[in-house]
Amino acid sequence: MATKHNWTKEEILEIYNKPLMQLLYDAATVHREFHDPNTVQVSTLLSIKTGGCPEDCGYCPQAARYHTDLEGNELMSVNQVKAQALRAKSSGSSRVCMGAAWRNVKDGPEFDNVLEMVRTINKLDMEVCCTLGMLTENQAKRLEEAGLYAYNHNLDTSEEYYKEVISTRGYEDRLETLDNVRKTNVTVCSGGIIGMGEKAEDRAGMLVSLARLSPQPESVPINALVPVEGTPLEEQQKVSIWEMVRMVATTRIVMPQTQVRLSAGRTDMSREGQAMCFLAGANSIFAGDKLLTTPNPDVNEDMLMFKELGLNVQKPFEKHEQRKTVEKEDSKIGALGEKPKWTRPGHQIDRNLEAQNKKVKA
Ligand code: SF4
Repeated sequence: MATKHNWTKEEILEIYNKPLMQLLYDAATVHREFHDPNTVQVSTLLSIKTGGCPEDCGYCPQAARYHTDLEGNELMSVNQVKAQALRAKSSGSSRVCMGAAWRNVKDGPEFDNVLEMVRTINKLDMEVCCTLGMLTENQAKRLEEAGLYAYNHNLDTSEEYYKEVISTRGYEDRLETLDNVRKTNVTVCSGGIIGMGEKAEDRAGMLVSLARLSPQPESVPINALVPVEGTPLEEQQKVSIWEMVRMVATTRIVMPQTQVRLSAGRTDMSREGQAMCFLAGANSIFAGDKLLTTPNPDVNEDMLMFKELGLNVQKPFEKHEQRKTVEKEDSKIGALGEKPKWTRPGHQIDRNLEAQNKKVKA
């Protein structure tokens, strides 16, 4: 099955607004075509430099201009990072994602240190990801040479809503960094946050921007806003589990090969809620009691949940090999923009039922 790239916002909204059980069924079907539904990848997110950021992302306690309880830290040492990576590995993580509260990467001793951290974690036979802000093509190449596996740079929301949340940089800047990463063999991780006051149209708009990238990001984190006192979004209502399930399921359908990451906001979800997200196509979580600065479930609780649900932890580098095979098949078919399988004959029963339901309602 080839990946469709020419999604429109209307098509994605239609999927997002389906009756929930139908949406879950469709997403779970796609999930099974591309992934082992019983395998989940576990990453550990490590804040290697906390706080003091010059940007004004309305959701982020690390922005220097907001008055929050956050304690900032200078860049960690390579040894500190190695110790944390070893701990993450022993508790089941296959990937370490290092985050630094920077607007953009600056060449110099701090970046050299980050490159050394990447080399060090690589030697531990773990996937290494970085999220360091905006990046030039040359910096992306240097990270690639050091052995970086993935670079995270979230689009956060739709292009239209972006300026309501962030004013110190534009959507174009984000896309440019993703483009710079794509010029290397480093995989792309890019997603967003729901619950920032955006409409369903904005959620669909963000997914259009991601799904139209070719290739689509290898990883799409879906975060639920964790409102932090002192930030402009402190008063936002938390999103319901149903919105999260809808977002995960829609992401799974429009980006079938992608690893969909259940990210911030898991502490507010029950195990049953998380299980629904796995059924809807989520196949990655962040482990560890903190996600950069926001709370996250304890790793033992997660392992207990995995045991109860019969989920296995994905091995490092396993997914990349599988994806390469699927992409090779895609290029053989030359099917950019082809209709997804569940809209083709044989998968039409559900559509016919929908049409009948509409008639009954009318
Ligand atoms: S999200 Fe990143 S860029 Fe934005 S304020 Fe926080 S640390 Fe800075």
